[in-house]
Amino acid sequence: MTQEIKNVAVIGTGMLGTQIAIQAACYGYEVTAHDEAPETFEKTKQRILGVMKTLGKAPTVPVEVWEQAARKIQMGGDLAQTLKLADLIVEAVPEDLDLKRKVFAEMDSLAPQGAILATNSSSIPISRIENATQRPEKCVNMHFYMPAVGMIMVDMAGGTKTTSETIRVAQQWIRSIGCVPLTVKKEILGFCFNSVWRAVKRQSLFMWAGGYVDFQDIDRGWMLFTGMKEGPFGLMDRVGLDVVHGIEMVYYNESKDPKDKPPDALMEKIKRGELGVKSGKGFYTYPNPEFVRPEFLSAK
Ligand code: NAD
Repeated sequence: MTQEIKNVAVIGTGMLGTQIAIQAACYGYEVTAHDEAPETFEKTKQRILGVMKTLGKAPTVPVEVWEQAARKIQMGGDLAQTLKLADLIVEAVPEDLDLKRKVFAEMDSLAPQGAILATNSSSIPISRIENATQRPEKCVNMHFYMPAVGMIMVDMAGGTKTTSETIRVAQQWIRSIGCVPLTVKKEILGFCFNSVWRAVKRQSLFMWAGGYVDFQDIDRGWMLFTGMKEGPFGLMDRVGLDVVHGIEMVYYNESKDPKDKPPDALMEKIKRGELGVKSGKGFYTYPNPEFVRPEFLSAK
């Protein structure tokens, strides 16, 4: 019989956990959530509402429905209470392997026997966490992007023992909350989409730092080819150049391949405080970066 998911629990209600919990509540799931600092849920919710307004981007449901759903989430109980009835638990605590293994061991000991255990980790494959539990066949990576601002894709990956039934139930659940599963068939750092974005980023940084092409022309090419409103450098500015550097270092530390090392020129920008949109300067200067002006893509 197909496993049915009714009750969802989220552990860690920071930037991602809060969005995942509210997204699930928007689509009718009973959601419980736990954070070692329970006040983060409300604080993060306010931050996300601010981001939604600034971006002017619609989530998959109207903002009022989103806020209403947020009010239904049961927050603040102890971990045993939070997990008592859960059919699916999504862990979204900070990106630290030892912490995630500890939390997974707790999830395993407190959750009902058949519950699926998922991690929202950006870079740690579930194969490195699964053996902290007694149910590796029920463990998955479920990597959400930013559902509240319209990034409704979720990388999905199993570990060494995850059953195809677990994957299927997880994919179905992702679809049921208005998101699109991108399934990884064989373990790869960055999962599905981040891996592709990362290849674009690495090559763009290499070409800029090596003096091959001006970063503006890389962005022009990208914008004209894809029809997007910004190119790789505009997007890196938005993510934050310090964050980009940190992510590139995760890949480099994994491979130790010198080609994976982010260019020194990127670190120099960071040291000068050029962090992107958040500091007013990155590759471009904000507000009103040159790529938003009509002449940026003009033939004249
Ligand atoms: P965050 O720092 O905003 O939130 C983490 C939360 O976990 C905090 O509220 C913290 O109080 C809580 N926490 C820490 N230890 C805990 C414990 N033992 N028990 C319960 N709660 C605990 O982090 P985030 O940005 O939401 O990232 C969480 C996970 O999601 C990470 O694995 C990250 O790689 C992944 N992720 C982040 C993003 C992003 O853009 N921020 C995107 C995709 C995936």
